[in-house]
Amino acid sequence: MGYVRGLKCRECGREYPVEPIYVCEFCFGPLEVVYDYKRIKRVLTRKNIEKRGKNLWRYKELLPIDGEPQVGLQSGFTPLIRADNLARELGVKELYVKDDTVAHPTLSFKDRVVAVALTKAKEFGFDTVACASTGNLAHSVSAHGAKAGFKRFVFIPASLEPSKIVASLVYGPNLVAVDGNYDEVNRLCSEIANKYKWAFVNINIRPFYAEGSKTQGFEIIEQLGWKAPDNVVVPCASGSLLTKVWKAFKEFKEIGILKELETRVFAAQATGCSPITSAIKQDTDVIRPVKPNTVAKSLAIGNPADGYYAGQVVKNTGGYGEDVSDEEIIEGIKLLARTEGIFAETAGGVTIAAAKKLIEQGRIGRDETTVVCITGNGLKTQEALAGHTAEVHYIKPNFSAFEEVLKKIGYQ
Ligand SMILES: *Cc1c(COP(=O)(O)O)cnc(C)c1O
Ligand SMILES: [Zn+2]
Repeated sequence: MGYVRGLKCRECGREYPVEPIYVCEFCFGPLEVVYDYKRIKRVLTRKNIEKRGKNLWRYKELLPIDGEPQVGLQSGFTPLIRADNLARELGVKELYVKDDTVAHPTLSFKDRVVAVALTKAKEFGFDTVACASTGNLAHSVSAHGAKAGFKRFVFIPASLEPSKIVASLVYGPNLVAVDGNYDEVNRLCSEIANKYKWAFVNINIRPFYAEGSKTQGFEIIEQLGWKAPDNVVVPCASGSLLTKVWKAFKEFKEIGILKELETRVFAAQATGCSPITSAIKQDTDVIRPVKPNTVAKSLAIGNPADGYYAGQVVKNTGGYGEDVSDEEIIEGIKLLARTEGIFAETAGGVTIAAAKKLIEQGRIGRDETTVVCITGNGLKTQEALAGHTAEVHYIKPNFSAFEEVLKKIGYQ
């Protein structure tokens, strides 16, 4: 038996039973999973968690399933890396990278949400899973869905990077490339979801899917030695991950695993698609939709479903939001690679470049503990670096040709 009490409207508070639904019938507010924390508190202790397998299901009582985990049994529990080289460069004392570039099986944090969504899809009895994706979700639904034996439909904007398309196709889903941006793909998928009885992971089972993002937050706390950081910097597309990292921190406080919680939550976006950070900067609750134009395609959601809630978390925790240009994104990717040996995709460049700005502005204190969430692998978006990397030294196969190179670069 699970620990879920039901679904609850985030706006009017009306409660619903556990079903594949996502909006309130009365006020159209989004639905959220609520748990029985009193019962969870008795079973989910630090000791019990530490005894379990190193994957995201070690926190299963705080995930919205009834039975045993069925998908993504090896997903989650990615490294939290103390980034001393990067910290030195940015002039801060204690900096950590939550490294989802090595997420299993498809190298982005989406493997967390899909593991939870597809386990729930099995419990609901669906035989087909689907998604509207900016790229990474398509990879994860295709891969996790293959292993779990689902029929799969993935919908993407046709303008996606060619390598991202191949990285979905290889798992054999039905891939539909739509001539439009993500927001148009999403709208089409909502129509399809009304007609076909499929589990659209980020539409009709979104409340369950989104809970998977909490595991990144749980892991950060555990890997810091059961402490919350002073600051966490989170990249935003729909804004869901940011709200769920914060929900995770609050839940650990609620069940007594965390003694103190004073974390400030910071949002990072690309300037070419910054509806959430723009609202934060303008100190307004109104999220104004935009037409995305950025190299950070995995974050290119112009009308973010959880934008309002992400803004509230940032405001209520005393954080802030920053956006960064495409050039700054590329510099951010290269900075992380050069200092820490971690190759992040464009979303990671957004996080690093935004963190740098926030430190320079004094919004993130130099003697505080900061975690930056790096959510996807750079091998997925190599195109973004074309023309921005160092040159290759092409030589004839002889020793003197090589020594010419040493001379040219001034090697001592
Ligand atoms: C999906 C995604 C995010 C954040 O997505 P939200 O919709 O805000 O939860 C961040 N980074 C990467 C690489 C992603 O694919
Ligand atoms: Zn409602």
